[in-house]
Amino acid sequence: MLNIILLGPPGAGKGTQAKRLVEERGMIQLSTGDMLREAKSSGSEMGRRVAEVMDRGALVTDEIVIGLIEERLAGSDGAGFIFDGFPRTLPQADALGQLLDRLGQKLDAVVEMQVDDAALVARITGRFTCGSCGEVYHDVTKPTKVRGVCDVCGSTDLKRRADDNEDALKQRLMEYYKKTSPLIGYYYAKGKLATVDGLAEMDEVSVAIRKVLDKP
Ligand code: AMP
Repeated sequence: MLNIILLGPPGAGKGTQAKRLVEERGMIQLSTGDMLREAKSSGSEMGRRVAEVMDRGALVTDEIVIGLIEERLAGSDGAGFIFDGFPRTLPQADALGQLLDRLGQKLDAVVEMQVDDAALVARITGRFTCGSCGEVYHDVTKPTKVRGVCDVCGSTDLKRRADDNEDALKQRLMEYYKKTSPLIGYYYAKGKLATVDGLAEMDEVSVAIRKVLDKP
């Protein structure tokens, strides 16, 4: 059973690759972004508190996201966890190490998905997803076959994220470089880091990630 982190800036393809691993291997995707968006749309007290922070592309507090991960880890059992969008700060990384220790589990690999900034802007500003099955699309590179209808599940509930616009993206990139990118060095020093080219074709990226996972 493998536990991995997908690390990379917004738009690197973490969510897309995580979904593939869920389908192929029955791993459990733990996306703090998805959990926070759920909280936001449920209108819960916590959702209301984080909505404004998320919409402008800033990070929510470590306490909140660590709490979310702790809850999910305790209640889940499967063929390993994919941490997608978590950890994003050094305190979150330390907390994850402690949580896994407590469960008698370890982190097997941290896959850094490398992409250049110019590509991110283009990827993110055209992005939309199916609100029903979570399939990810793009206006230019991956439109739906029939306009307004999800190819996978037929739903017409296609959505754009409130923070997938240029201003919020600038803030998200800044947060990434200031607070998240130090994790690359942190996990390198722990001997866990593997880097893949996130700009390659989606299938090639999947192959590169599989290689990391299947390394003896
Ligand atoms: P994502 O879907 O991973 O791009 O996350 C969307 C937004 O949720 C981020 O821009 C943050 O506002 C918030 N968020 C998600 N994960 C974290 C995290 N680990 N730490 C702090 N904020 C987070």
